[in-house]
Amino acid sequence: MYANSLIELDRAHLIHPVASYRSHEKHGVRVLASAKGATVTDASGKQLIDGFAGLWCVNAGYGHESIVEAAARQMRELPYATAYFGLGSEPAIRLASELADRAPGDLNHVYFTLGGSDAVDSTIRFIRYYWNARGRPERDQFISVEQGYHGSSTAGAGLTALPAFHAGFGLPFDWQHKIPSHYAYRNPVGEDPQAIIEASLAALKSKVEAIGPELVAAFYVEPIQGSGGVLVPPKGWVKAMREFCRAHDILFVADEVITGFGRTGPLFACSEEEVVPDFMTTAKGLTSGYVPMGAVFMADHVYETIAEGAGTTAIGHGYTYSAHPVSAAVGLEVLKLYENGLFDNGVKAGARLMQGLQSLRDHPLVGDVRGRGMLAAVELVVDKSNKTPLPASAEPARRIFDRAWENGLVIRAFGNGVLGYAPPLCCTETEIDAIVERTRITLDETL
Ligand code: PLP
Repeated sequence: MYANSLIELDRAHLIHPVASYRSHEKHGVRVLASAKGATVTDASGKQLIDGFAGLWCVNAGYGHESIVEAAARQMRELPYATAYFGLGSEPAIRLASELADRAPGDLNHVYFTLGGSDAVDSTIRFIRYYWNARGRPERDQFISVEQGYHGSSTAGAGLTALPAFHAGFGLPFDWQHKIPSHYAYRNPVGEDPQAIIEASLAALKSKVEAIGPELVAAFYVEPIQGSGGVLVPPKGWVKAMREFCRAHDILFVADEVITGFGRTGPLFACSEEEVVPDFMTTAKGLTSGYVPMGAVFMADHVYETIAEGAGTTAIGHGYTYSAHPVSAAVGLEVLKLYENGLFDNGVKAGARLMQGLQSLRDHPLVGDVRGRGMLAAVELVVDKSNKTPLPASAEPARRIFDRAWENGLVIRAFGNGVLGYAPPLCCTETEIDAIVERTRITLDETL
């Protein structure tokens, strides 16, 4: 059979990201064949609601002909143009300009990458360049947050705090440090927002003092921690951390790879927090996953320092596919779709999703429900009274994922018993209700 032969070819040749190769060989691949709106169809013809927008990226939903047309038009006219040697292409220049117009504060300079990991990696290089240009080369220590995810590039993976991204690699990250997460449901200081903000500020202060304030280069946050289990900080947390960094001359990086492009409501989550970072990283929703692209936003003062520091010397950071014209053409079309109704729909659908998921709190397995906009999580527990987590292992997560799949729903089942939701912003009310209903059925079958 078509699907069976694909499964064998996959087993033999395709290495999957973030997977146990042995378990994958045992279970085999699920092949997706087509998609439209918020629905994906697998190779056997089974239709499912994609409650995770691929990998939190297909914000616009699948099957927009206008995006396909924009890519095809650009491929016909100019499929490739380097951004090296002072060259460029119209879509890349226009996209940078449209994004800078909409970005918080003075994040006026945009550096295009291929995705989120190399966006984060680029910030590490730019930040080192910045401090050298300022005559402060000793500022080479980086801080991020436990439960944080910042991709899996060789340097950026160190900012990622999730153990799976470190186990077995043994790469030296002694220049990278972590402070505890704001994770409200399991925070030693309890769930009071002010207490959480104060605890995080105290942790950052003591971390900076331990490293040596004159040595700290930058602090990285996600406005909402995604891969750590959709951990939403209290209102004011991001701003408090940003202000601490400003006061201590530490660069503040907001990683909006998941939270950008309407995922939490506005174009960027930072805007809602009234925060202007020194750097902002994005990817995923930038092109809605139709083609790869990421973007680093740089504040005026950072750009000026780097530019002045380099003078007429070339700044040696670039990729063959930086500012790819086809990706940029897709980005421009996606932005148009977002602003012509998709963001508005996402706000309405997000409110319905949160309300629906909150209704699952009466289920014996549900310990916590959290999120903002079209980004949410349901945390499962063995015992609600003492928040006993599910056994930390991939197997329960796999079983829940499989059950949800049987019930026609794609969700993310994290190994720690957290179910992640990030549906396309185009979801109808009926689809949102189906996501909630199919989750309840899945939980009942899991009991
Ligand atoms: N940063 C954050 C916050 C992410 O969630 C991710 C991916 O999920 C990345 C960086 C890495 O992005 P990519 O997978 O496009 O390399």
